[in-house]
Amino acid sequence: LASRDFHPADTVISIKGVEIGGEQLVVMGGPCAVETPEQIDEIARLVKAAGGQVLRGGAFKPRTGPYSFQGVGVEGLIMMAEAGKKHGLLTITEVMTPEYVDVCAQYADILQVGTRNMQNFDLLRKLGTIQTPVLLKRGFSSTYDEFLNAAEYILAGGNPNVMLCERGIRTFETYTRNTLDLSAIPVLKQLSHLPVISDPSHGTGRRELVVPMTKASVAAGADGLIIEMHTDPDNSMTGDGVQSLFPDQFAHLLSDLEKLAPLL
Ligand code: PEP
Ligand code: MN
Repeated sequence: LASRDFHPADTVISIKGVEIGGEQLVVMGGPCAVETPEQIDEIARLVKAAGGQVLRGGAFKPRTGPYSFQGVGVEGLIMMAEAGKKHGLLTITEVMTPEYVDVCAQYADILQVGTRNMQNFDLLRKLGTIQTPVLLKRGFSSTYDEFLNAAEYILAGGNPNVMLCERGIRTFETYTRNTLDLSAIPVLKQLSHLPVISDPSHGTGRRELVVPMTKASVAAGADGLIIEMHTDPDNSMTGDGVQSLFPDQFAHLLSDLEKLAPLL
C-alpha cells in the first residue's frame, strides 16, 4: 500500500485546511518537550508569526536513560492543544504506547512515532485502527525497506494518513548526533506516494547545521520540515537545546525558505 506502483499519485494529507504532500511546504516547529503553559504558548506564538503551520512538542519523551526527564504527560497534551488552538496551529506530539494512542489523538492533530518505536508493531497496528494522521520516523538503523514496511503496518490496518520522516541514521561519524540521510528524501519519494518530512534537528544534533540541512532537504524534495525551536534552549528540559534554533533563527530560516521554494 505504501508503494508508488500501487498508488502512482502523491498522497496529500489534508488537516483543517493544511495540505501535507501537496504544493505547500509545511513547517512544524516547537520545543523538543512541552514544559509549561507559558513556554508552549510563547513558542506557538513565534511559530505562527514566522509562518509555520504546525506546533511540535513532546508530552511523552522516549529518553535513553530512565532517570532523565520523561515529559509532563497528559498535562502537556492539554497545554499544547490550548496553545495550538489559540494561535491557529495544528499540533503534533509523540505517542509511545498503544494505550496512549486514543488520548493523544484526542488532543493532537498528528501523532508522531519516534525513531526508537519504528518497529513497535503493536503501536503501529493500533495507529492503523484510527484515521488521525501519523508521522512515522525512520528507525536510526533501519533500511528504506524496513521503514516502508513499518508504514505498511499502519496503512494495512486502514489508516491511509501516513507521512514518512527522515531524522538521521547512526553512522561511524560522531561529530554529528546522527547523519541526516538526504538521499532518503528522493528515494522515498520515488518508492512511495506518501509525504516525506525531514528532521534536520535530530538529523544533525547541532544548531549551526539545522539551517543548511533544512535548505538541503527542501532542495532534495521534502514536503515538509520538523524543526526544534526554543525560547531558552540552554535551559530546556531535554538535552535537545543544543540542536534547537533560537526564535530569530527560526523566523529567518522560514523567510529564506519562501525565497527558495519558487526556485525549485
Ligand atoms: C523528538 O522529536 O523529539 C524525538 C525524540 O525524535 P526521534 O524519535 O527522532 O529521536
Ligand atoms: Mn527532541
